[in-house]
Amino acid sequence: MIPKINPDSSVDPVYLNYFSRLKSENFQGDIEYSYSSRLAVATDNSVYQRLPKGVIFPKNRDDVALAVKIAGEPEFAGIRFAPRGGGTGTNGQSLTDWLVMDMSRHMRGIRDLNVEGRTVFVESGVIKDYLNQQIKPHGLFFSPELSTSNRATFGGMISNDSSGQGSLKYGKTSQHVLTVEAVLLDGSAVTFGPVSGDALKAKMDQENMEGRIYRTVYGIAKNKREEILKTFPDLNRFLTGYDLKHVYDPETDTIDISRIICGAEGTLCFITGATVDLTPIPSYRSLVVIKYDSFDSALRHAPVLVEANALSVETVDSKVFNLAKQDIVWHSVKDLICEVPGRTMDGINIVEFAGWDNELEGGRMKALSDSLDKDLGASGNTRGIIGYQTCTELKDILAVYAMRKKAVGLLGNAEGDAKPIAFTEDTVVPPKHLADYIQEFRALLDSHNLTYGMFGHVDSGVLHVRPALDLCDPEQEKTLRTISDSVVALTAKYGGIMWGEHGRGFRSEYGPEFFGGLFEELRKVKAAFDPNNRINPGKICVPYGIDNEKLVSVDDTKRGFYDRQIPVDVRHSFRAAVSCNGNGLCFNFDKTAPMCPTYKLLGDRRQSPKGRAGLTREWLRLLQLAGTDILKEEQALNESGFSLGVLFAKLRNTMSAADRNDFSHEVRNVMDCCLACKACASACPVKVDVPDFRSRFLNLYFSRYLRPAGDLLVRNIEQTAPYMAKMPRLMNAVNGFAPVKFITKKLWGFVDVPVMSYPTFSTLVKSTDAEYLDLDKMSGISEQERCNYVILVQDAFTSAYDAPVIADFISLASKMGKKVLILPLKPNGKVMHIRGYMKAFAKTARSTADFYNRVYQLGIPMVGVDPAMTLCYRDEYRKILGDSRGDFVVQMTQEWLLDNLDALKKAEGADGIHEYYLMAHCTQKSLKPTTHADWTRIFGAAGLKLVPVPVGCCGMAGLYGHLKANVERSMQIYRENWAPVFRKYPLEYCLATGYSCREQVRRMEGKSVMHPLQVLNMYLK
Ligand SMILES: Cc1cc2nc3c(=O)[nH]c(=O)nc-3n(C[C@H](O)[C@H](O)[C@H](O)COP(=O)(O)OP(=O)(O)OC[C@H]3O[C@@H](n4cnc5c(N)ncnc54)[C@H](O)[C@@H]3O)c2cc1C
Ligand code: SF4
Ligand code: SF4
Repeated sequence: MIPKINPDSSVDPVYLNYFSRLKSENFQGDIEYSYSSRLAVATDNSVYQRLPKGVIFPKNRDDVALAVKIAGEPEFAGIRFAPRGGGTGTNGQSLTDWLVMDMSRHMRGIRDLNVEGRTVFVESGVIKDYLNQQIKPHGLFFSPELSTSNRATFGGMISNDSSGQGSLKYGKTSQHVLTVEAVLLDGSAVTFGPVSGDALKAKMDQENMEGRIYRTVYGIAKNKREEILKTFPDLNRFLTGYDLKHVYDPETDTIDISRIICGAEGTLCFITGATVDLTPIPSYRSLVVIKYDSFDSALRHAPVLVEANALSVETVDSKVFNLAKQDIVWHSVKDLICEVPGRTMDGINIVEFAGWDNELEGGRMKALSDSLDKDLGASGNTRGIIGYQTCTELKDILAVYAMRKKAVGLLGNAEGDAKPIAFTEDTVVPPKHLADYIQEFRALLDSHNLTYGMFGHVDSGVLHVRPALDLCDPEQEKTLRTISDSVVALTAKYGGIMWGEHGRGFRSEYGPEFFGGLFEELRKVKAAFDPNNRINPGKICVPYGIDNEKLVSVDDTKRGFYDRQIPVDVRHSFRAAVSCNGNGLCFNFDKTAPMCPTYKLLGDRRQSPKGRAGLTREWLRLLQLAGTDILKEEQALNESGFSLGVLFAKLRNTMSAADRNDFSHEVRNVMDCCLACKACASACPVKVDVPDFRSRFLNLYFSRYLRPAGDLLVRNIEQTAPYMAKMPRLMNAVNGFAPVKFITKKLWGFVDVPVMSYPTFSTLVKSTDAEYLDLDKMSGISEQERCNYVILVQDAFTSAYDAPVIADFISLASKMGKKVLILPLKPNGKVMHIRGYMKAFAKTARSTADFYNRVYQLGIPMVGVDPAMTLCYRDEYRKILGDSRGDFVVQMTQEWLLDNLDALKKAEGADGIHEYYLMAHCTQKSLKPTTHADWTRIFGAAGLKLVPVPVGCCGMAGLYGHLKANVERSMQIYRENWAPVFRKYPLEYCLATGYSCREQVRRMEGKSVMHPLQVLNMYLK
């Protein structure tokens, strides 16, 4: 039995008093200081970890001002803040020991869209892709690009002065910010934008914080102009934190303080919103993907490509795209970046042409293609070009970029303990030096025997490199420091900077050396905004006048310090939880993307794969510190039987007041909300498979505490459902009886129990020519004869509750000339796995796998109709049984149909048939990314038209949506993700592959949708 764990999670009483004051003063937002809430913001994508004292989530600008004003009272003078947005920083910019002010949860308003003037106001928590989605109908977009555009907020983008692909033309965020709305450290709300002449004088004459800021910045920017110009490198990405060069325009004597806030990394003020300018969406876009024999060839060719007047030139090395090849993302680009027969592709350049003059851009693209043809045709091609491909379809262009955007995260999926980490990942040098610089950079990394992948925006000289290090090893932590120092020197040698794109954060210690004499001026700027060092202290610089406080350092406490407290075998065993690198892809806001329904619904970072992984990691560490050998504990649970003593102990723990503050309860809370939809297991670049470690957590958790009564039903449902299914009318009547419903809800915690199929599965089967499998009989028939058969692998749910689907499968198979053999029902065990009955699941999986392996020997295809149940044989069985799982294969329906496409006849009168709309099951889309394409092909072969609909989760996820505790969440997820589809498409033409999805539609719409195989069966003769 695991012990109770109680981290030292006490919060400084000053902060507790501050939170009470906030509440009493009518702070509208949320205030959280539980250990789990604090942990959820203790990391970003960097190697650092800092536990704050709490998190506040303001609702609006007034909340921000209130929070700052109250913090100004003498009692709260010790309170310090770090503003936070998406938390995707790569250098710990938003990490703090103090108080996090997270703008991303509520401050998501967009207003004052001026289509003609091409401007809009965004609150600081607005996500870039979300804004672009909203303004797309007006033909506009916010043009600075960044890889994290589906989760990064404007507050973070402004503070890091974000940019990325296309920056030569689209620029950086600061070049599109017209005004910034902010709350200053004195609690005043101000707006910063360009000011000159009398207006500037009036600003400077003010006897307040704003006035002091204007006077200080104006004085420095004007008087130190020469020194500033000398110090600030002449790069397209220019210098961030603090941009003294662009804050002042000497020609017009204009000051624009917003330019200094851009790139200030949250060290000057709280940004509450900004008015930004928008760009018309280009009418022309095309991509050329050029393939090279080496990365060096790709780099050296880049300047030529920039001269071709491309919008952007991005380089990717073979390490990165080889990782992409193993990821779900590759299936969407595999035809766009094909191998070159007989050649090894060791680097690519992705060149985009985009603009508003189609003829001009098309001409440029043609000119480049012609010159590439010439190079390729030339004997002794000296440029190392081995081929190229072009794409002009927007969806293809977006697919290539989606692959590129995911590349940083994919690097984190490397095998072994050393993981590519961010600390030198955004250096910039003048593009003309890039190839030479990289050669030296490589030599440096090679001299330390490090592996790394590289890609970057070669048009602007930015290189993304993440050397692989195992920071659980203190020696390798020292290597990080050595390399970091060397890279600073190397970038300086080539006239570049270490922080070219992602901000300085914990690399702030390099500031004094880089800025030299100007550094004191930066400190004066900081002092004008934040004289007492209260906002993001230690980053960029310490205010002028404060000499007893330090800058943060590259050597500060890292995640590795905590992770190394977890024994290495536990880290390996819980790889999925430990390897999350915090890149935040699971915070994707897009409702049509599978990832992650609970985070999207609740907006609580704890309820995301990252949150769940982070809490599990901490739980493992605390258990270890409490002296628990987790792996032994799991083994003991696997070997133990029922014990009355243990039952009483669990009862005592469950009732005990002393156990209420067990940290395991906080972890359980976030695990209980997870739907086990598996989207994370594939969409996360490092495959953080939450359902996997969630089951193991529940197994261990319930070794200490009593399970909810309903778990007993769940554990046995696969055994009991077939018996109940024999008397459907009685069962339906009983389950529909109000008092029974009441008891089912109160006692067992279940609602909306599904209706059992009538006529029953066995009655329906009787009217077909299907037979139950007789192993001996089938072993006796020839191999040739066996080709005419298909084995139907039943699952308890479809057979008991959706029997017509099975009957239709039998009918379809027989129309295709196949005879169906029905396998006796064997429990699949998925529901046991989901509820963490690991011992029972292992036993079930063992028994079922043994039987299926025998059946598989017949050489007859085995097919399961429900994707989630079928995929469990591949995924969870493989994990629990390892190699002893055997080789049996249960195909999903579409896989079997694809293998037998020839047997599908064209539907009669297909041309007049309405098109159908497919909503595939989440787990199926996650684990089989070709699902949509496969079904579309099958329908095409039958002469039918199928349109895949991109939807997120339906909210049912097996039994999840039937649990009283989840029902509201389940329905809300449905309303947000699926209900809109039925407003667009007629329900009778919508199809769902998952049993639970169909059940959810039945519950919510009063009628259900069909499985796609039912449509095929309907039309095929
Ligand atoms: C995989 C990956 C790829 C990336 N690619 C790019 C890229 O292509 N280009 C690029 O520029 N960056 C990139 N980044 C870095 C990062 O995603 C961006 O800089 C992003 O803009 C940060 O936004 P955020 O909302 O996550 O900010 P956070 O990480 O939450 O915060 C970043 C900084 O902004 C401050 N801040 C946030 N909100 C406010 C506010 N309201 N007021 C004041 N200060 C605030 C924080 O204190 C912190 O200093 C990448 C990161 C990752 C993990
Ligand atoms: S769970 Fe995956 S997607 Fe989410 S932050 Fe961690 S690594 Fe990134
Ligand atoms: S299984 Fe689904 S709900 Fe659970 S963490 Fe993963 S994506 Fe989120």
